[in-house]
Amino acid sequence: MTNLISPKPGIDQIALYQGGASQLEGRNDVLKLSSNENPFGVPDAAKTALIASANTLHRYPPTDHADLRAAIAEVHGLDADRIICGAGSDEVIEFLCQAYAGQGTEVITTEHGFSMHRISALASGATPVEVPERDRVVDIGAILNGVTDKTRLIFIANPANPTATMLDDDTTRTLAEALPPHVILVLDGAYAEYVDGFDGGAALIEARSNVVMTRTFSKLYGLGGLRIGWGYGPVPIIENLNRVRGPFNLSNTQLVTAEAAVRDTAWAARCLSENTKNRAWLADALAALDVPSDASSANFILARFANQAAADACEEVLREDGILVRKVAGYKLPECLRITVGSEADCRRVVTSVRRFREIQS
Ligand SMILES: *Cc1c(COP(=O)(O)O)cnc(C)c1O
Repeated sequence: MTNLISPKPGIDQIALYQGGASQLEGRNDVLKLSSNENPFGVPDAAKTALIASANTLHRYPPTDHADLRAAIAEVHGLDADRIICGAGSDEVIEFLCQAYAGQGTEVITTEHGFSMHRISALASGATPVEVPERDRVVDIGAILNGVTDKTRLIFIANPANPTATMLDDDTTRTLAEALPPHVILVLDGAYAEYVDGFDGGAALIEARSNVVMTRTFSKLYGLGGLRIGWGYGPVPIIENLNRVRGPFNLSNTQLVTAEAAVRDTAWAARCLSENTKNRAWLADALAALDVPSDASSANFILARFANQAAADACEEVLREDGILVRKVAGYKLPECLRITVGSEADCRRVVTSVRRFREIQS
């Protein structure tokens, strides 16, 4: 029998999120560089807190996340009242769409923008409107051209995924100042920690009423498997996001583990400096093999090839060598591969494999 119950408009347009591959058959030495995870794993302080949390699992978690918000505020120099925590920053993105978008509204995303922005917009019933970028960089002129009376949200990842490029503070401020009052600018700061000294847009948020940022524990803090993220915005917006947030959206375990991780500032500093060093080495070594990339502001590089055939052939050689990277044709970048910056040894393994690809080709 045919099912006559249709979902809400937009739901059947959602293409399921494609995660980075994690396994290769018959290999136990797989190097996973397909999801921008931290190559150094989980901070020890977070593991200790996670294990200790087992003793509290009979209790419901706090609904206000006060301790975690206080820790984030203290470490990042922010105002705890403007913070909301979610099951990954993905959940905060969903709260934004649920509270501010929906049927009859438009949500602006960009040509190579992160797919969860579009998925969340569609899930809310809103119409995603995609605007062009310029040479793999977000173009604020194109965004402003795309704004209509129906626009409610604009999503920009800054630094962006999968391009790794970013907008400077003057450009994001210019965009925020040019927006009509019915539009919120969302800066997805999943990679903000990889830019030394960058506040992710916090100062802009504190100075204005129409900017929000999302952040995550999934990248620099090595906790992608536990699902913790947060958002920062004007108090009236945060209040509305809390209205759509489930009261127990984060478990005791998530809360205390994230708190331990954010307080481990030495871990964060070490991961940042390793990433900066290894990223430069990797980008230079690949460029010497005629595989250029734009300057990266994140923990991955977007390697460019002559065409899709070359990118696919290189991905195949990497795969033969047990290395998983990310194809990004779905992001309108068929001639590129996104490669997470691993440890120094990981980066050497990538370069050795790409060199083999070049040798096969010639
Ligand atoms: C990895 C990533 C996230 C993180 O999502 P979580 O739900 O916090 O794991 C968010 N935005 C972008 C652009 C990302 O690349």
